[in-house]
Amino acid sequence: MWVSITIQLMARKNPVPQASKKVVLDCIRQQCPNCARPMWWDYSASRKVRTLEGVIQLRLQVRRCQNKDCERYHQPYRPEAEAKYALPVHEFGLDIIAFCGAMRYQEHRSVPQIHQQLRSRKINISERSVTNLLNRYDELISTSLTDNQRLRKIFQNQKQVILSIDGLQPHVGHEVLWVIRDCISEEILLARSILSSSAAELELLIKEIKDFLPVPIEAVISDGQSSIRKAVENVLPAAVHQLCHFHYLREAIKPIYEADRHANKELKKLVRGVRPPERSIGDREDTEANCIRKYCAAVRSSLTDRGEPPLKPPGIKLQERLTKIADSLENVEKSGAPARRKPPSKDAPRRALSPKN
Ligand SMILES: [Zn+2]
Repeated sequence: MWVSITIQLMARKNPVPQASKKVVLDCIRQQCPNCARPMWWDYSASRKVRTLEGVIQLRLQVRRCQNKDCERYHQPYRPEAEAKYALPVHEFGLDIIAFCGAMRYQEHRSVPQIHQQLRSRKINISERSVTNLLNRYDELISTSLTDNQRLRKIFQNQKQVILSIDGLQPHVGHEVLWVIRDCISEEILLARSILSSSAAELELLIKEIKDFLPVPIEAVISDGQSSIRKAVENVLPAAVHQLCHFHYLREAIKPIYEADRHANKELKKLVRGVRPPERSIGDREDTEANCIRKYCAAVRSSLTDRGEPPLKPPGIKLQERLTKIADSLENVEKSGAPARRKPPSKDAPRRALSPKN
């Protein structure tokens, strides 16, 4: 009885919607920050994050030090870029928190108004969650090294710090919420909302952290924005500055993306005529009809496959799938199998799917 009541109370009214995007994150740093031996990819963690751009399924490749003599033996090290998406164990992304904060404090909107705005952006959220997110925003902004004692204790046992720096701007013209975090302890060191994202402003934030920390900042991970680069160069000249893999790939893929999009469009033109052959077989259930039906289904599903950019661009994926279908049709033609059964339609599938149709 109690169990069922509890479950009912806890049941969600709105289940988390399907993810529209999958992102796989690996650790940029793969050596143990303590003993410098390789950290193995030990297990994958998965979480869904609701962002302003839809629901993202994150797949995180968590690494752990395998050196039994190391202080960090078996302690998980999660991908640095995870922090860009959401706070630990949070369902709503940091961009939504930044959005709520910007709406509340810059545009002076009420909770119901912010709720309305988010709903109009197709984000499935309750009013109570908006209130919770605003509380998170307030907490974040006040984190900023105020929890002195606790943080100092954590860093005493750590030899170094790896900073991840990221700015979230929900809208052009809004203040940017800068979040700076240590990738080893997973602690947020500082979060601040500032209107300008100039190198000079960022330098002040990084300097504040540097002065506070009892251990050196060995490395910085960011999207490589020029103001961040300059600020890091000036305040932490000795630190290694690594571009986040995600941003790096996204930049690298830009020229390929355009070419792939074009190829995708052209390829789709070639197989537009999938409907007429499907219609022409009607309700027929003979072997040939089933064969045509399956080929049409194969073409159709390859058209809706969006691939997994940037590593598996949709145009290349489509080309691969269509080539397989064409090869298969060629085999049918060569083997002459349909010809034995029904001579007039021996090249029916190929004809049906040929560009002329
Ligand atoms: Zn170690």
